[in-house]
Amino acid sequence: MAASHNKALYRTNLRSRQVVIDTDDESTRDLSEKEITAKARLALDATFERLGYEHDPDQHDGIKILGATKLKNGGILLELNTPDAVGFLTDDETLTEFLAAFSGHATIKTRGFQCIAEFVPTSFSPSTPSALRAVESDSRLQSNTILKARWIKPVERRSPGQKVAHLFLDFDSPYTANRAIDNGIFIENKKVNVRKAKIEPRRCLKCQVIGARHIANACSSPNDVCGYCRGKHRTAECKVSDPTDYRCANCKQSGHAAWDKTCPEYKKQAQLLDERCPENKFRLFPSDDDPLSWECLDNHTSTLPDLGSAPPPPFAEWPPELEPDEPPADGPIARGRNTLPHPPHSRARAPAPTPAPAPPTPDPHPI
Ligand SMILES: [Zn+2]
Ligand SMILES: [Zn+2]
Ligand SMILES: [Zn+2]
Repeated sequence: MAASHNKALYRTNLRSRQVVIDTDDESTRDLSEKEITAKARLALDATFERLGYEHDPDQHDGIKILGATKLKNGGILLELNTPDAVGFLTDDETLTEFLAAFSGHATIKTRGFQCIAEFVPTSFSPSTPSALRAVESDSRLQSNTILKARWIKPVERRSPGQKVAHLFLDFDSPYTANRAIDNGIFIENKKVNVRKAKIEPRRCLKCQVIGARHIANACSSPNDVCGYCRGKHRTAECKVSDPTDYRCANCKQSGHAAWDKTCPEYKKQAQLLDERCPENKFRLFPSDDDPLSWECLDNHTSTLPDLGSAPPPPFAEWPPELEPDEPPADGPIARGRNTLPHPPHSRARAPAPTPAPAPPTPDPHPI
């Protein structure tokens, strides 16, 4: 337990020290990790100079870029030395200078701490910044600590007249996320429960393999495999609508789809993932300076109803999170094929020119 505890603490801390740079600058994306790191360090030096920090050794000593990882979605993951360094880099003034020096066409974002808010009024508008600021204010959270929010289930798949739904919320720090989990938050003046979003096994949208180490556009399967019936067609083109006729592509059993959490293969992969991601065992995001955040969930599962993290429809954005990072094997950021973070499936998958409507099947999301 001690080793997995340390690993969970490490991973939470690591996440606080990372930023993701998105750039459409091909020349930057083609650089090696070493070259990207050097470029970022030069941009940081230029930022210090522009802001007049060049003679302040404390600033230089306190802010360090340790390394970079290229993400499969084209993004760049930068690892800094401390969470405070990330705070400094993403401050409005610093950020403008840094991005101008790094690349003409780039944006930067911190890595959020993802939670699920349950039974949120559907009148809420998660894409509206002022709505997020209102949640922070009403919930007595610091301003701009909610990085983003989005409904778990696509709005178009809601039941007629649905009044509440579950929501993904990304907080800027484990501290804020834990506070929301402990105290709940107010959304549209309703007090709602918040829980940590568990990291879940990845599924390839082409071959349907659960726990896959690849994404659909890198899949070696010669044909599409249907997530509903295991047939050789795209899931969206499936004609099977009766759940009793589903045939799981993973365990080969009838009666459930390839993403069903009751599938024995899903359970096996979820257990393996829990061993790789020990933070799944914690109710909160564990942090060094708060022993109260080390409380474990019973039997590694939440005691709350598992509604929000139910498997999504086949082409929803999932998993919501980048593939988790491993502790460093040979440097500040682990490198190698099996440790590179992966993009969410939907971003990597080329959109179908004329997407077929989803078959009229029961929604895998209860809400
Ligand atoms: Zn595949
Ligand atoms: Zn099918
Ligand atoms: Zn199955």
